[in-house]
Amino acid sequence: MISYEQAVEIIRANALRLATEVVELSESLNRVLQQDVVCDIDMPPFDKSAMDGYACRSEDLENILEVVEIIPAGYQARRPIGKNQCAKIMTGAMLPSGADCVIIVEDAEEISNGKIRAKGSKAAPNICRKGEDVVSGQKLVSSGTRITPKEIATLALAGCTNPLVSRRPRIGIVATGDEIVEPYRVPSGTQIRNSNSYQLCAQSRRFGAEPSYYGIVSDTNEAIGRVVEKAKSENDLILLTGGVSMGDFDLVPSILKEMGFQILFEKVAIQPGKPTVFGRAADRFVFGLPGNPVSSFIIFEILVKELLFCMLGLAKHDQTERYPLAKAARRQTTLRRAWIPVRVTEEGFVEPVEFHGSAHITSLASADGIITLPVGVSEIEKNTIVEVRRI
Ligand code: AMP
Ligand code: MG
Repeated sequence: MISYEQAVEIIRANALRLATEVVELSESLNRVLQQDVVCDIDMPPFDKSAMDGYACRSEDLENILEVVEIIPAGYQARRPIGKNQCAKIMTGAMLPSGADCVIIVEDAEEISNGKIRAKGSKAAPNICRKGEDVVSGQKLVSSGTRITPKEIATLALAGCTNPLVSRRPRIGIVATGDEIVEPYRVPSGTQIRNSNSYQLCAQSRRFGAEPSYYGIVSDTNEAIGRVVEKAKSENDLILLTGGVSMGDFDLVPSILKEMGFQILFEKVAIQPGKPTVFGRAADRFVFGLPGNPVSSFIIFEILVKELLFCMLGLAKHDQTERYPLAKAARRQTTLRRAWIPVRVTEEGFVEPVEFHGSAHITSLASADGIITLPVGVSEIEKNTIVEVRRI
């Protein structure tokens, strides 16, 4: 049995980077950039008015000003601003030459036919200077960044309409077990509903992968072998659930070997998820996950994601958050690294949720994250600051 840290090391050492592809900016949400994005213009591209108001010379602020023209956004002034002159200017319009400040509409008093005077505070120039936010040639987003709505805005601003990104990992998802039925059925006395496949598809999709579901297969060498062969030819990664423990019908590890996978580990000192299997055949990978739903959920978060991070070339790991424990987190045995579900309280603490073990998937619905207890640690005291991985 290897440690969690060794398992992560093995995954990282074997992971292969996916190829890149060019996508439309509007289709790039959640993809991972594989180029630095450099701005091709200054931002703002010209001195612009930050407010609706009157552009004038600051030395004339005490005087009555003649309004010489109206400058809408998107248009250039036809004449410069001279002594005791101003131009009515809209937010976003280019400042006329000669002017060095804008009196905001609220601070301007109309005197008579085309004359105004500044009142109130005359402090701020109300101008955004050319290049004050970004200068042409500046790097705005680095390769390896996940594209979220804020990156989309930055890419649009930089004119990066066809970003280079990692191809999406293709993940084939297979449920094994003679007792498993699809969720639309009411299980008979010996059956249980399939939650793993739907959960793993959702976890994969949320991470930016492209899941395909291959259905439920019964616990026979032929049935599992047939589906694994098909899924292997169509995906970068296969996630099987069930059939990895010590039962008479836990056939997955031996079938994976027969199908040409080299088994890189098949027991990890973690709880839940000890019988997790990880294998590789050239550029194809497989995880055999325990059938218990909490195990498959947590193993996706702590091990499968490690592989996906590397495949996608993500620069940053999921961020953890730090919270004090509202009450002690305890466990009986300490031979394995454990993960337990916790919820964030209104007071800004975390506390373990009621959890009956790795079949208790509904407990995760009331959890906000998971915390980990290292090997040898049976208790984390109340008020200890813990790292919470959001789920
Ligand atoms: P196994 O890993 O095949 O020994 O399964 C462990 C437990 O998880 C058993 O109680 C199974 O019935 C249950 N289980 C297996 N596969 C699924 C699944 N796809 N959805 C929900 N529960 C499952
Ligand atoms: Mg089974």
